[in-house]
Amino acid sequence: MIITCPHCGDRPIEEWVHGEIPVVPDSITDPDARDVDRAYFHTNAEGDVREAWFHLAGCRRWTTITRNTRGYV
Ligand SMILES: [Zn+2]
Repeated sequence: MIITCPHCGDRPIEEWVHGEIPVVPDSITDPDARDVDRAYFHTNAEGDVREAWFHLAGCRRWTTITRNTRGYV
């Protein structure tokens, strides 16, 4: 799988680490509770998911992508 870095171009997935950017419900207003929700409660949704990808073996910058969990990308 190839991920396109906005700074380095097309790079293999082995150069990246990533995680889901979960949507925290508006009903959770306490900042600490919102951080816990973001860190530990992932939706593992089917379909399009927003994720933060860090180009660890490249420019060492973050980029946000939308990945479809049903398919290849
Ligand atoms: Zn890069």
